[in-house]
Amino acid sequence: MFPYYRYKRKKKKSDDQTEPKERKPRKKPEKPDLVKRLDKVFALYIRLRDVMPSGFGKCISCGKIKPYKELDCGHFYGRTNMATRFDEDNCHAECIGCNRVSADHLIYYQENLIRKIGVARFDTLRLRAKSTKKWTDDELQEKIDHYTAEVHRLSRLKDIKVNL
Ligand SMILES: [Zn+2]
Repeated sequence: MFPYYRYKRKKKKSDDQTEPKERKPRKKPEKPDLVKRLDKVFALYIRLRDVMPSGFGKCISCGKIKPYKELDCGHFYGRTNMATRFDEDNCHAECIGCNRVSADHLIYYQENLIRKIGVARFDTLRLRAKSTKKWTDDELQEKIDHYTAEVHRLSRLKDIKVNL
């Protein structure tokens, strides 16, 4: 049999326990949702920008020609860097193998990126990547609107169907 104090303590605990109040859901989309939406539409834009009207594009890293569906939006400076996450000079069509599997794709990415945008733009990209950027909700929404329109335009122009 349990000693008396055990019963007492147990009872007291359940009486005193106060549940933390749940936060009310906000109506406006939260920042992580805006970032996620922008990631999606920006990636579609980059892939559409980098394919020819034939629907094929060149991987920035290995140089292989791939169909639109087998190309990712590859970031030179990784996506954790918010200053260059939605930077058109930092993002290019890259084949799935290079973007998701290859360990040394960035070596070739850098070479071809400098060839594509030139040393001057590469240097300013490097400076931007070293800076910090905090996006406001309005800035994110503005970019979502801009790239959504661009995706629709390029999708029609190059006759490539996208899920947006
Ligand atoms: Zn590749």
